[in-house]
Amino acid sequence: MRTDGRKVLVIGGGIVGLAVARALQARGKDVTVCEKEGHWAAHQSGHNSGVAHAGLYYPPGSHKARMAVAGCRSVVDYAKAHGVRAEVCGKLVVATSSEEVPRLHALADRAKANGVPARLIGSAEAREFEPHVSCIEALRVESTAVVDFPGVCAALARELADGGAQLRLNTPVLAIRPRGSRVAVETPHETLFADQLVNCAGLHADRVARLAGVTPPVRIVPFRGEYYSLKPSAEHLVRGLIYPVPDPSLPFLGVHLTRLIDGSVHAGPNAVIAFDREGYRWRDFSVAEAVRLAGFPGLRRLARRYPRTAVGEVLRSLSPRRFARDLQRLVPELTSADIERHGAGVRAQAMRADGTLVDDFLIVRAAHGVHVLNAPSPAATSSLEIAEHVALELDRR
Ligand SMILES: Cc1cc2nc3c(=O)[nH]c(=O)nc-3n(C[C@H](O)[C@H](O)[C@H](O)COP(=O)(O)OP(=O)(O)OC[C@H]3O[C@@H](n4cnc5c(N)ncnc54)[C@H](O)[C@@H]3O)c2cc1C
Repeated sequence: MRTDGRKVLVIGGGIVGLAVARALQARGKDVTVCEKEGHWAAHQSGHNSGVAHAGLYYPPGSHKARMAVAGCRSVVDYAKAHGVRAEVCGKLVVATSSEEVPRLHALADRAKANGVPARLIGSAEAREFEPHVSCIEALRVESTAVVDFPGVCAALARELADGGAQLRLNTPVLAIRPRGSRVAVETPHETLFADQLVNCAGLHADRVARLAGVTPPVRIVPFRGEYYSLKPSAEHLVRGLIYPVPDPSLPFLGVHLTRLIDGSVHAGPNAVIAFDREGYRWRDFSVAEAVRLAGFPGLRRLARRYPRTAVGEVLRSLSPRRFARDLQRLVPELTSADIERHGAGVRAQAMRADGTLVDDFLIVRAAHGVHVLNAPSPAATSSLEIAEHVALELDRR
């Protein structure tokens, strides 16, 4: 593919970095992607729930609302066009107590405001979709899909390679130095030069911003999300996707049941602080990261604001019985004998110094490029839209 001669270096080979690289290549840029791991989608993009979210949860007008509504369609279309598995299956959000009903109605209003096809249904109709569910009322959302996101990343990488992009695995970016109007990017193997860079480093996005001389307004706090899978004997209890009504004060959707694109059923993810950026297990503990987290006033403020939630999440993480108890609110027949641990993902959630979590995607322009500083869920869903946004930001410079 002919380029306009402008070299852009993308840091991070998750779904956001690869989608950004594709959008830049389509605009005629000479693109290089550096990924520190030996394969694409090694972190969040390969350790998530695999759901293309419809866009009902997010404040109208936010990046998340606009990009998820569009992305839910575009990522499924992209997957199907490239032979990657994806299926529009819809989902149920269920109110299991009378206190949750007003919040369910508020969610229905928000879905309407965001243009998401969703309708309130009674418990009898909910059981037509999910015969084993327990609820007072439910919200049926038709456009939600399940997608093989690592498959999407592989397809993006193939497209990039075919278009002549330089794809560098096992290439951590160690330092970034301005060289006049360009940047020099140090890797263990060589120094790469670029006109612009795009930081899509996920769990390390704040550190990479600092390498580039930018003081980020946030720091990344890693929240581990642990999964269980239903044993095959219990899989018949869940046909599709069953979600609780989320707590509006928290950025996570609550433990839910998801029938993945491969047909298996997952339960989770919970949300516990990880003591390492890539802390997939309790024993993944970085003293340096723990000290940094302990010294971060934002985290102490968050813990003071939600002490019961924090303790509850830790207890649930340690006890399968407690995990199963939360699932029983959705599907009463499920017991702890029906579930087994099934890995984890670590969310990169940006936090301000005052302890508030950044709700929306945060994409910041700086001297030599663009930094994607908050791209948690639904960023896999919205990856193609985030990519267009970043490409426009770079063009505006
Ligand atoms: C448990 C969980 C469940 C989720 N469920 C969903 C869902 O159902 N639907 C949805 O839309 N979203 C979901 N998400 C969110 C979604 O996975 C992320 O928003 C998305 O994957 C972010 O992509 P990314 O490319 O920004 O980050 P990542 O996939 O984390 O990629 C960043 C990459 O940068 C690399 N990197 C970091 N530092 C450097 C460096 N110095 N040099 C080179 N490379 C570097 C990393 O190795 C990594 O591969 C979930 C996330 C988690 C953790």
